[in-house]
Amino acid sequence: MEELMTGLNEAQQQAVTSTEGYIRVIAGAGSGKTKALTHRYAFIANALGIEPSNMLCVTFTNKAAHEMRRRVKQLIGGEQDTAFITTYHGFCVRVLREDIHRLFYPKNFVIMDVEDQKAVLREIFEDLGLKLNDKTFKRLLDKIGMLKGNTHYVQQMVKRGEMIVEEAADDLDGRIIQLYLKKQKRVFGLDFDDLINFTFVLFSQYPEVLEKWQDRLFYIQVDEFQDSNAKQFELIRMLAEKHGNLFVVGDPDQTIYEWRGADPKYIVDFQEYFPSAETIFLNRNYRSTPEILAVGNSLIRHNYFRVNKEMVTDNERGLKVIHYHGKDEREEAGWIVDKTKQLVEKQGDSYNDIAILYRANYLSRFIEQVLIKENIDYTIFGGFKFFDRMEIKDALAHLRLIAFGDDLSFSRIVNVPKRQIGKKRIQFIRERAEAEGATLYDILKKYVDHPRLQRTGARIFVDTIESLKVKRKELNISELLQETLQQTGYEAYIREDGDQDRLDNLTELLHSIVQYEQTLGEDIELEEYLQMLTLYTEHDREAQAETVKMMTIHTAKGLEFPYVFIAGMTEGVIPNVRTLRERKERGLEEERRLAYVAVTRAEKELYMTESEGFQSGGLQKYPSRFIFEIDETDYQRIGLIDEGLIKEVKQYLQAYAHPEHETGNGFEKGTRVRHPVFGEGNIENIDEKKNIYFIYFYKLKAPRPISRNFKNLEKLDE
Ligand code: ATP
Ligand code: MG
Repeated sequence: MEELMTGLNEAQQQAVTSTEGYIRVIAGAGSGKTKALTHRYAFIANALGIEPSNMLCVTFTNKAAHEMRRRVKQLIGGEQDTAFITTYHGFCVRVLREDIHRLFYPKNFVIMDVEDQKAVLREIFEDLGLKLNDKTFKRLLDKIGMLKGNTHYVQQMVKRGEMIVEEAADDLDGRIIQLYLKKQKRVFGLDFDDLINFTFVLFSQYPEVLEKWQDRLFYIQVDEFQDSNAKQFELIRMLAEKHGNLFVVGDPDQTIYEWRGADPKYIVDFQEYFPSAETIFLNRNYRSTPEILAVGNSLIRHNYFRVNKEMVTDNERGLKVIHYHGKDEREEAGWIVDKTKQLVEKQGDSYNDIAILYRANYLSRFIEQVLIKENIDYTIFGGFKFFDRMEIKDALAHLRLIAFGDDLSFSRIVNVPKRQIGKKRIQFIRERAEAEGATLYDILKKYVDHPRLQRTGARIFVDTIESLKVKRKELNISELLQETLQQTGYEAYIREDGDQDRLDNLTELLHSIVQYEQTLGEDIELEEYLQMLTLYTEHDREAQAETVKMMTIHTAKGLEFPYVFIAGMTEGVIPNVRTLRERKERGLEEERRLAYVAVTRAEKELYMTESEGFQSGGLQKYPSRFIFEIDETDYQRIGLIDEGLIKEVKQYLQAYAHPEHETGNGFEKGTRVRHPVFGEGNIENIDEKKNIYFIYFYKLKAPRPISRNFKNLEKLDE
């Protein structure tokens, strides 16, 4: 038992031994909340003799649950059943597997992920003879999510027998959603929202089921409580009601799921929900050096909606936090990778100790490529490696088919998008290919007018590929890819899918090819390029023990790493463009909390990097505002950043903060200007209200509206 207490400070010990009643621990990052929670669990098992099957411990991700189970087993021995150290969803699945039959669902119901949801929607569109177009997908999934924001719809689904579709005559979306529910019911599929909602309904309609679980779970603990939403909170409240033993830990400054309904009020106002509740504060940070902590404190101080709670640490001093600025993203990635090599080769650290974090998945690509080139193995957590993503593999399969005509690439894309060349027709092509010793593509081409291939897209497909084969001689690879994705309908297919991430990834692929061409000269051969990519992918397969870890900041929540790089600390990336456009303080605060989570993952050294690479709308070449919010004495700036740029950023930030004074670059009517794309022109008119110039460009036929804040407008001498 003593073993459970050593290595904990007084406040943590208090948390561990306060086993009865409602207790919350509020504390900043790295203060040992999760450690206290883990030890408390072990304490209740060892010192109070409670079976782990009588304790529920909710964590935020599966990864966190695994990690906690591992730690608990070290503390209490490996024999015990720790299945109730789990996520909200994991717990709901347990509940439903025991009692869902009461709702006329079988115990072996299916759990649906987003891809499954999309597949169901696709089927409905096909059945109705509709076309999915841009954004429909996302809009419908959002609407379904909204419907599932409460539990009314569950009543409709849990009746015995087939679901009755309510006719919503003039509302097509409404009808589609009804059909969606019906299909879901037919396959007995539950999506993530349903898991929680069905559990709710089960508990409220069958009090004996709720009571069974209340009786079982004498002690309940929740980690990362600041990211609980209303339903999750309600579920926990119900479960804890009987025994009244609930222990939650969290840090309101790390709420990063507000966009998904998380609300820090449940932890901030805990005492209002449970008047008898006790609060324990922890204020000593054990994770980071004083330098890293200072950066975190300095940043989060800019949030207005928060309770102030500064952390202190006794940890040894370390290196100053670094802000690196690169000219473009290649320079940025090159610097990151050089630095990781130095850490390992000169300082004898392990690649395992290094994490690279970023705001969004698409940002991993530029770093991945340099890591691969330098032969450094890496693991991407919570996502696919760039070249393993479906849309990237598909896009490259098109190029491979044009270059090599191979069967693998052919099979991958011949029916994507759908060309009515399904299993049976493929079988026919295969048999012919076998008999004639030809490739699948050659057979398709040869038999394109065969009766078996009538009324399919075979003819158009072959014609397109053939014309692209001719064109490739005049086009460089990036142009060829663009043409290919357009003409084969692949791009439209992804666009219709409405999945913005996929479109972003395709754009990122194009971007990477353009860069490749710029480095190696434009007339590089397609075959050579594809060869190089194959090497990348093969390299991936040799699993090595030593790997750099890469993940989004959301995925890194709750974790820690000795060395942390935050890549793409660029205005427009973090905070992201959408937040900047919406100009809502709350959104900006959530982005700032995200940056705070990233910073506070680091134990020994922290590097914030950005570059002028990710440009769009003349905005994204600036270092993130968050870097400028940090006290300048708390970090060191390296890399080539000229004073002019810094001045510009500060002006831009000033203007952003006071849009009412915004006059943009302040050119007068009649000024001659140069635009990077449209060339020279003349300011014909100014709309003060909308902050827009109307510029007559000499090479265009009509004036164009251009934002007065567009920085790349250059004044020409009279
Ligand atoms: P986050 O908010 O990021 O989830 P946290 O508050 O949960 O952070 P932990 O992950 O529990 O923090 O702890 C951070 C680090 O400090 C861990 O490496 C942990 O082992 C260590 N630690 C926690 N408490 C102590 C202590 N009393 N003495 C020494 N090290 C500690
Ligand atoms: Mg934690």
